This record gives sequence, structure tokens and C-alpha cells, in this order.
Amino acid sequence: MTSVSTKPGTDWEYAPAPESREIVTIQREYNLFVDGEFVPPATGESFTTLNPASEEPLARVAQAGEADIDRAVAAARKAFETSWGRLPGRERAKYLYRIARAIQERAREFAVLESLDNGKPIKESRDVDVPLAAAHFFYHAGWADKLGYAGFGPDPRPLGVAGQVIPWNFPLLMAAWKLAPALATGNTCVLKPAETTPLTALLLAEVIAEAELPPGTVNVITGDGRTGAGLVAHPGVNKVAFTGSTEVGKQIQATVAGTGKRLTLELGGKAANVVFDDAPIDQAVEGIVNGIFFNQGHVCCAGSRLLLQESVADAVLDRLKRRLATLRLGDPLDKNTDIGAINSRQQLDKIEGLVAAGEAEGAQRWSPPCRLPAKGYWFPPTVFSGVSQSHKIAREEIFGPVLSVLTFRTPEEAVAKANNTPYGLSAGIWTEKGSRILWMAGKLRAGVVWANTYNRFDPASPFGGYQESGFGREGGRAGLAAYLNA
Ligand code: NDP
Repeated sequence: MTSVSTKPGTDWEYAPAPESREIVTIQREYNLFVDGEFVPPATGESFTTLNPASEEPLARVAQAGEADIDRAVAAARKAFETSWGRLPGRERAKYLYRIARAIQERAREFAVLESLDNGKPIKESRDVDVPLAAAHFFYHAGWADKLGYAGFGPDPRPLGVAGQVIPWNFPLLMAAWKLAPALATGNTCVLKPAETTPLTALLLAEVIAEAELPPGTVNVITGDGRTGAGLVAHPGVNKVAFTGSTEVGKQIQATVAGTGKRLTLELGGKAANVVFDDAPIDQAVEGIVNGIFFNQGHVCCAGSRLLLQESVADAVLDRLKRRLATLRLGDPLDKNTDIGAINSRQQLDKIEGLVAAGEAEGAQRWSPPCRLPAKGYWFPPTVFSGVSQSHKIAREEIFGPVLSVLTFRTPEEAVAKANNTPYGLSAGIWTEKGSRILWMAGKLRAGVVWANTYNRFDPASPFGGYQESGFGREGGRAGLAAYLNA
């Protein structure tokens, strides 16, 4: 555990406060969850999932191949036609409530497992990922018997089998975002978690088995990108839902084109977090920190471009740096840790490459004094000032704890700079003036705009983007539409 602060008077040494990992039993090997059972893969192959904070191997996980995808899709089809797809909404709701309560009951287990497999701080998995995952099941349970009143006509119908591919940054939460609306609307699912973070989706499969959903209603097939590609291309799938990189999203769009499959894509982002001269500065600094350093910046809607109004730029940067010097980087299972590990060697390489490009292009790099643990994948919180719009670090998604700072003079300039991106997922506005918030929100091309806050999520609030950030919404009434023939 490493405290970042070194200034006299601000160096708060905490005693270690590790969450016990004894609550979790990690198996040596995990099979696929198909047709209500854990079954070995037909490939006979498996891969290792690591703890990115220590590089310690956690488990071997099954690699699903073509025959396994066929089997999972066939099980989902059978459940759609014979059991789950025929249940009335009020019955589906009971199962969803059961899953939600089981997530709450096993919350500590989910949180510890998530932090071990992903590297995120336990205070985030415990206070954000797991409660929000349960909230998504509760929220959608409430909709299951009310779909006829949701504005999609008197009898909206499910689509059939949903093939769902999710990333590694919020493994359990993304599984909940995908499964809960699909199940509430009467679809059956084949879910493919990310290769580096399969364990909480497999624990969720265990919860689903214990909740006694009809076999085949939810299937979890683990594997690498080939498994995801095979699933989205499978002719037995009616709906594809994907969260991940824009590059893979484009490949999936090409695969799905002309097949009649419904598609939603939630892709990358390069969000602007805009701070005006009348903003409450301390509050804004907290929002900036939460915007880019939450989950090590592995967040598609991260506020990775900070736009500061010129007259307050120095003052905000100064306070931001002081605040960053108090962040604690280290053991993800320690309850005092703010910044955990980078999820994989591959992601760390990508961050290091983009940071090197930022320096080469002439931006000024700053990090608080910070000792990184010797083992595992780590990157210090980093701020680039003097960034111009043409710099790579102002254009490309870094997906790490790296903030690019630009300045502006007028609200018009702020809007022009904020919108100068091929993405369009999210944005933040910090100002005391309500009329300016409304004016900006109308002009920013982003699916989500936060005002005087950042990274706030709620199952009732639709989430999704424009342009290269994808299309379709998850959450709220709009999210139900993605799984219904209305
Ligand atoms: P990917 O888009 O490759 O991964 C997302 C999911 O898609 C994973 O389950 C992955 O499997 C799977 N997948 C990979 N290739 C294919 C394919 N051809 N067809 C179908 N599914 C596929 O993201 P990465 O993990 O490689 O991250 C790369 C970059 O993407 C990051 O640096 C970040 O910039 C961005 N990203 C954005 C996210 C977001 O939330 N918008 C989330 C994650 C990443 P597997 O894990 O086995 O490769």
C-alpha cells in the first residue's frame, strides 16, 4: 500500500485495512454455464485469469468454441420457446427479484471477487458495482409485468435469443445491464464476459442457477474475442448487445448488417468535463477526480478531457494537484485505496503508449509523488496540461488514469471544443448558473450530460451515446425498447 502524499502536514498514513478474501472460494477451474448446468467446453481448452494487482493466477476458465456456442444458443432458444418465453411478466418478475436479493445477500463475496479479478478498489466494487447491479435487477423486475403500459403498445413481444458481449471494466455491472432488461422483457440470453474478468459473471450464473430460472434462460460462455465473434455471428441469435471498444463495435456492426438481427452498441468515449469561472471549485475538483480517476479511468464515459475557463484554470489545476496528492494507490482489497491496478498488461501498454505520445507532442505531464507496487500492473494518476485539440491525448480514448487539460474563454468555445470529437457518450458542466447548464446541455452532442456532478448512474436513467460511441440506450424505459418488438 502506497500513500501518494509526501508534503509535511498532509501526509496521512493509514494503517492497512484489507478486506478479507476468505469470503470467496475461488475454484481452480471454471466450466461454461449452459442449459442450467456448469459443463466442460467441447474444445477441452481453458485460459488463466489473473489478479492484475499481483499477477497471481486466480483460476483456469473454459474457452468456448463453436460447438459450445451452438449448444448455448440452442439452450436459449429452447427456453425461449418452451419455458421463459412463455411465462407471464409477473412470474418473470419474481425470478428477477430473487436474483436481486441474492446479489445483495452475497454482496461482499461479489465485491471481493470483482476486486481480485479486475483490480478495482474494494470501496468501488462494494459501494458502486455490486449495489448498482442489484438495483438493475430490482428496477427491471418492476417493469416485467407492466410492459403493456410502457408506451410500446398493449402487448410488446420479446425478440428471442439475445447474444450479449461485455467488457472488463465493470464485469458484474455490465452483466446486470445486459441480463436484467433482456429477462424482464421475456428474452433469453447467452452472455460472453471479457477474457480478463470472467469470475463474477460465473458467480452470477451460480446465483441464477440457485434462483431456479428455467434451464437455458441464461447461459454464460467464457472465452476470448473469437467466442464473442462467434456468438454475434450465430444465426440463432435475434439480438446482439455489445459494450466495448469502438473498433470491435464496428466489426460487429459489419457482421450483423443485413441479417435482420437487432443491435445495440455501447462503445468508447472522450468526454469533456467543462468548468466555468463561477463553478464551486472544491466541488468541481471532487467531480474532476471522480470523473477520471474512478475505476482507474477504465470508464467509457470518463471525463478524460478537462476544459477549464481560462480565468480560473490555474486555480483549479493547483487545487486539483493538491487533491491528487492525497489519493492512495495500492492494494485493491484495502478499504482505504482510491486507485487500484490497471486491468491487464495489454491495457497498461496502451496507456503507456498514449502517455508517451502526449509527452512527445509537447504537453506537460504531472503526477503526484507515488511509489508503484513492484508486482502487478500500475499507473499513477496523471495530468497533462498545455494540451491542444490536435494532440493524440485529446482525441483518443486512453482508458486509464490520465487527464488531458485544455482551456477556453467563452461558452461558445467550450461547446465547440467539447464537441470536437468523433465520440458522443457523456459530458459534464460545472457552473452556478442554471440557464447556462440548460444552454450547454442543449448544445453538447453527448448521450448523458451531468451538471455539477459526474459519473452518476441509476437504472431508471437511460445511458448510451452518439456517433462513434454507439447507439441504443441501456436503462430506463428507453432501455426496454432495445429488447422488444414494439
Ligand atoms: P474489446 O472491445 O476488445 O472487448 C470487449 C468485449 O468484446 C470482450 O468480451 C472481448 O473479448 C470481446 N471481443 C473481442 N473481439 C471481439 C470480436 N471480434 N467480436 C465480438 N466480441 C469481441 O475491448 P478491449 O478489452 O480489447 O479494450 C480495448 C480498448 O477498448 C480499451 O483500451 C478501451 O479504450 C476500449 N474499451 C471501451 C469500453 C467501453 O466501456 N466503452 C470497455 C472496454 C474497452 P476478450 O475480452 O476476450 O477480448
